[in-house]
This record gives sequence, structure tokens and C-alpha cells, in this order.
Amino acid sequence: MKRFLLLLICATILLSAVVLAATDKQRVIYLTFDDGPTHNTPAILDALKKYNAKATFFVLNSRITENPDLLKRIIAEGHSVGLHGSSHDVNVIYSTASKPLEEMNETNENLYNTVGFKTKLIRTPYGSYPYMNLEQYKILKAANYNLWDWTVDPRDGVGAPAISTMLNRIKGDLKGNENPIVLLHDKKSTVNNLDAILSYFVSEGYSFGLIEEAMDPVNFMELYGPARKK
Ligand SMILES: [Zn+2]
Repeated sequence: MKRFLLLLICATILLSAVVLAATDKQRVIYLTFDDGPTHNTPAILDALKKYNAKATFFVLNSRITENPDLLKRIIAEGHSVGLHGSSHDVNVIYSTASKPLEEMNETNENLYNTVGFKTKLIRTPYGSYPYMNLEQYKILKAANYNLWDWTVDPRDGVGAPAISTMLNRIKGDLKGNENPIVLLHDKKSTVNNLDAILSYFVSEGYSFGLIEEAMDPVNFMELYGPARKK
């Protein structure tokens, strides 16, 4: 009987440990919104608030100038901010070795003048692949910038995909994805689908994480290896 009790206690402890480990492994998803802040941003922030979700906003230089109060609201509501540059034009930002850095520095100055801090977080337009070359990447890294691309792409930047299309793409990209970073855009069609997208992530048991400066960046240059493009 004593031995049975001992076994029972051991089993209970073991089971508790397993349950705790499972809880620790709660899945985290990182939402990102590019190209804002715009007149769509308040609706994005309202939807995020409804689901108690946090996100990272990669903002454009001109839109900081146009919508300083929306940028302030993003920050006040606990979201993270990164830089998306000035031109948003592949023929401009990737045109010289130092141009990506120049655009990020310019945007960072504007961020500082608007909200009083700078950031190391950046995302270049259309992603680093296939536009960025190794020299441009090295210059950004040497300036202490952390370049972030994405690993989940519902392709909402192109046209206005239906929610079913967006969810199918999200589900496909989430398969076996240990580090889900979702690319979304600050635009009306995405706002219209955001409630359903957030609801899906919650139903799948994800919690929402912020991209922060201390994190190792996930980007195509690192994922595919800088050797893929000189
Ligand atoms: Zn963009």
C-alpha cells in the first residue's frame, strides 16, 4: 500500500511537470503591420485591443509626419514600432550600398523628433529578398539595425484578398513554423478581415508577442544565407 501511495505521488508530480512544461510552451505569434500609420490605423488598434493583442508597426517616414498622433497612440497602447524607410520604392531604396541606411536614419530622426526615441528595428520595403545585396545588409548591421522580414504572408499587400484566401495562406505558412512572424499591411481590406484573422489565432491558442530590440532578427538574409546573393 505504501509503495502504491509513493507511486501515486510520483505520478502526480510527473504529470504536474508535464502540464507545466506544456503551459510554458504556449505558442507565440508576432503580428506586424507595414506602411502606416494611416487613417486605417485606429481600426487596427481597436481590433488589437478587442483581442488583447500586441503588434509591431513598421512605419514610413512620410506617414510619421502626416499622422504623428496615430503613431503616439500606437506607442501608448503598448505596441512596438520599427522603421520602413522613406521612398518605399525598390528602385530607390536598393539603388546604392548606403541608401537603405540613409532611409532608415532619416526615418529614425523623424521618429525621434515625433515621440522622443529611436529604434533599431527595421523592415525594408518588399522584404530583403530578392532586392537587398550583401553589402547593403552589412552596412545596416554595422549601424546596429535589426532587419526583420516575415515567415507568414497572407499577401494582403497585393489587391484585396478575401478572408478565406488570407486564412488559407496563413494556415499553409504556419505549418511547422516555429517562429511565426505575420506580414500584414495598414490598409482598408486588411482592416475588414482583421477580426476574423485575430479570432483564428486566438482559437489556435496563440498569444501575441512584440518584436523587440533584444531579439535575434528573423530575415531572409539570415534564413537563406548571405551567400545566395552578392
Ligand atoms: Zn511596405
